[in-house]
Amino acid sequence: MTSVTALIVSCPTCKKDVAWLPEQRFKPFCSERCKLIDLGDWATESHTIPGDPLDTFNADNPDQLD
Ligand SMILES: [Zn+2]
Repeated sequence: MTSVTALIVSCPTCKKDVAWLPEQRFKPFCSERCKLIDLGDWATESHTIPGDPLDTFNADNPDQLD
């Protein structure tokens, strides 16, 4: 019985076991989907500028003068 010992990591997105192998293109993610989910979360958070953007919203818009 041949035993190949592969490092097993947990997918950061779904916590599924992922074998750390060259053919595992999306490691440490289990799949492209999980990778995109993680990157999407990261991108969404990075787009959020600290502070409340609603503070700069002016209901009395001076640009709309007749
Ligand atoms: Zn996953």
